[in-house]
Amino acid sequence: MSSTVTSTFRKHSRVTVDLVVKNAKLLLESGMTHGGIGVVDGKIVIIARNEHLPEAETVIDAEGKVLMPGLIDAHAHIHDPTMLEHETFTTGSKAAVAGGVTTFVDMPLTNQVDTIGAVEEKIARGEEISVTDFTFYAGMMNSENHVAIPVLVERGIAAFKAFNSAPYQTSNGVLVKCLSAISEYGGHLTIHSEDQGILDEFSKEMEGDWDAPISHSLARPNLAEQLAIRQNIDIAAQTGGHLHIAHVTTKEGVQEVERGRLRGVMVTTEVCPHHLVFYRDDMNRLGPKSKMNPPLRTREDRAALWSALLRGAIDMVVSDHAPCPIEMKERGSEDIREAWSGVDGIQTILRILMSEGINKARLSYSRLLRICSRNPSRIFGLYPKKGVLRIGADADFVIIDQNKEEKITADMMESKCGWTLYEGMIMKGVPVMTFVRGVQAFKEGQVTVKPGHGRFQAMGSGEKPLGE
Ligand SMILES: [Zn+2]
Repeated sequence: MSSTVTSTFRKHSRVTVDLVVKNAKLLLESGMTHGGIGVVDGKIVIIARNEHLPEAETVIDAEGKVLMPGLIDAHAHIHDPTMLEHETFTTGSKAAVAGGVTTFVDMPLTNQVDTIGAVEEKIARGEEISVTDFTFYAGMMNSENHVAIPVLVERGIAAFKAFNSAPYQTSNGVLVKCLSAISEYGGHLTIHSEDQGILDEFSKEMEGDWDAPISHSLARPNLAEQLAIRQNIDIAAQTGGHLHIAHVTTKEGVQEVERGRLRGVMVTTEVCPHHLVFYRDDMNRLGPKSKMNPPLRTREDRAALWSALLRGAIDMVVSDHAPCPIEMKERGSEDIREAWSGVDGIQTILRILMSEGINKARLSYSRLLRICSRNPSRIFGLYPKKGVLRIGADADFVIIDQNKEEKITADMMESKCGWTLYEGMIMKGVPVMTFVRGVQAFKEGQVTVKPGHGRFQAMGSGEKPLGE
């Protein structure tokens, strides 16, 4: 990048760049400082105090707002092209930039992405219609496709998804094979960790109570998560390889991850905003919209998740964005088992962490940077191109008005689903501008970038930010 600046230097007597954002609170890896950044060809070329910033074609005065690297949402079900009634690459990516997310990691659910052909198809589709950068998981892993791990890693897909529970349950034998391959070729295996045997037996006890939404949570006790995580860690201890626990929700689950790390197992984890905001008793009030897996937990669990996030026991916050048409929720109003499991989330991660975290003193800005941007970048092998403000990094960033209050309503949401679990909530701390590789993608409520701007991001084999 310095060469670009140097050549500009030669042409003009003064350095000129494409874009300067000045007068910001810059959230750097080393801490927060006052100043600005300069951008040439979509890359950050200068980070400096205001008086040292060059002239630019476009200058934005951030007026003392926070400027941090764009978020990397490492768990989003966009479902394109198999479930277009839920979300498309365009609608999902618009929701992303409207929430300060500049890269998302799509995760398969109903559609298998486990061959080079499927990968190339997904890359082409995303680059055609996504407004922001993306990469994606391969999965669901099974007894046939685990042999494809080396070739997929080679192509830049180094994240693999498996389940301990139905309907996508992966056998322990396959988990051993996957983690062994990952140990050799790099990447990581993410497991949705709930023990199916526990779920089966506890579901029987709910007979006659399925009209109460909370039954969904009571049928999936904490022990199901704890046992599955413990078993997955035991497998990783034998095979080596990086194990990632998807959306931890319980105090016991966090403890298992921490114990695993103390044993020297390469294990990381993530948490979802909805588990940080709501708790189990909210389900009867919120109705079927609040159904997701794993389910909402107790107040005690919620407190344990915040605490784990603050001390670094949880590595990142991900949306688990999995919206659906409202009818698929409403059909569970008499029997919660009939409702779709999953909620919106990609547009509200940052708002929630600002409102419930930063502005309630449950999080520091340095943790916010790690859990939203830097850690996912490292885990997915995108670092330091993404997830940090650095010379040479992509100019992906979000400007946040830390004091602005905003009421969440369905009509401000870019997701195709047309509803939000957070309806009516007042959030303090709002993303006001988002840039993707130097191009303005979102400004004061409007998405300002066209479909097709998004680029596939090949993963490296990843770094392991254990406990940072
Ligand atoms: Zn998910």
